[in-house]
Amino acid sequence: MTSAAPKTDICVDVAIAGAGLIGGTLAVALARHGIKTAVIDRLDPAAMLEGSFDGRASAITASSQTLLAAIGLWPHLADVAEPIREIRVSDGAAPLFLHYDHALLGDTPLGFMAENRHYRLAVARAMAELPGHLTVVSGRAVTGMSDGPDQISLALDDGQQVRARLAVAAEGRDSKLRELAGIGLTGWSYSQTAIVATIGHARPHDGIAHERFLPAGPFAILPLPDDRGVHRSSLVWTERTDAAPGYLALDGTRFLAEIAERVGGFLGELSLIGPRFSYPLGLQFAARYGRGRMVLAGDAAHGIHPIAGQGLNLGLRDVAALTEIIADAHGLGLDLAHPEGLARYERWRRADNLMMAGVTDVLNRLFSNDIAPVRLARDLGLAAINRIVPLKKFFMRHAMGTVGDLPRLMRAPRTGTARG
Ligand SMILES: Cc1cc2nc3c(=O)[nH]c(=O)nc-3n(C[C@H](O)[C@H](O)[C@H](O)COP(=O)(O)OP(=O)(O)OC[C@H]3O[C@@H](n4cnc5c(N)ncnc54)[C@H](O)[C@@H]3O)c2cc1C
Repeated sequence: MTSAAPKTDICVDVAIAGAGLIGGTLAVALARHGIKTAVIDRLDPAAMLEGSFDGRASAITASSQTLLAAIGLWPHLADVAEPIREIRVSDGAAPLFLHYDHALLGDTPLGFMAENRHYRLAVARAMAELPGHLTVVSGRAVTGMSDGPDQISLALDDGQQVRARLAVAAEGRDSKLRELAGIGLTGWSYSQTAIVATIGHARPHDGIAHERFLPAGPFAILPLPDDRGVHRSSLVWTERTDAAPGYLALDGTRFLAEIAERVGGFLGELSLIGPRFSYPLGLQFAARYGRGRMVLAGDAAHGIHPIAGQGLNLGLRDVAALTEIIADAHGLGLDLAHPEGLARYERWRRADNLMMAGVTDVLNRLFSNDIAPVRLARDLGLAAINRIVPLKKFFMRHAMGTVGDLPRLMRAPRTGTARG
């Protein structure tokens, strides 16, 4: 890894705008394949690693974990990731309706929970192992783009230029490159806000993730590794956007009482660990996945509801597909932005991402209400899935991300090991 001298043009094979979880992972994947890569983020890495920057933890599916192992990122994350052994889904206070147990499919966990701050640190450590192939530019925003017949040039806010064969827009939902390329967006707000907090609890969670459908939206209790003897879980509490500020403003005791009411007593006495965070929820998808020598990946291309914990995982599929296409072109000495390759990327990823955006949208609409006939229909549906074993296995494999047209890096034999 090298630090760029200010104002000197940088020339690489691939320039990535945005070093979030997706841009960072893509940079590691490409550099591991010997592709000269630059990744630019407007934020300073130290700010992104602060505990107060992003309080979320992400569910990482089995196929995403395969990718992270294949590119050497997983060894930096394995010790702080918690295997998900079971998922229990219930509708409000109703008894258990849907139960996924990993043992039904073998001994592999359904996925892993990792705190985003740990994921960012793992990316930074994996980047540090890649001298010579990776240039990291921090604290600089991408503000301009000029696309030519042989190369694309990104302008940074200090006047520096980054020239590449291909540019990837990974700057999240408000992508500047997407805007500069004139690519339109479709989407809507859910009028819901996710309140995120970490709790400590007296009893162990046993690797079980719980999702409860409450009238304002899903309430998820997600298992985290113990920290210094404290059992911990991450909460994603969805509320109506007009009600969320009231909850966020409660003092610690009353906030914890609201949480305890929703969690119930099965984890024993609860405590709050660290600050609370909030994220407005909405759906958006880009009209196309690229133009000229620029392609979109991650939330820049698709932002979905976190109801199924799949937004990052879809982005990681983009990473694996893009890496495969770029590495193949590189190996054959082709232009990294050759139109057939980029068209294949769009066909491959857009359909999959759109399908998941649709599924999460329908699930959220179906479950975030208390209308009696709708409730009866959805509970019958959940109960049916729970009883019909082949159907249940089908949904479990989808939750694990092991079905569909998987890129090679997600099919590779798993080399990473996880605790437990
Ligand atoms: C409450 C909640 C819970 C979630 N839980 C899960 C889960 O369990 N599992 C899952 O799969 N997904 C989950 N998601 C979704 C997941 O968090 C996102 O899909 C993922 O973080 C998107 O990553 P990204 O790198 O594409 O974008 P971002 O994380 O938005 O990163 C974009 C980066 O680009 C940088 N940037 C922006 N503009 C510029 C610019 N002009 N120049 C340079 N840099 C720029 C930013 O500083 C940032 O670092 C959840 C989402 C929410 C809201």
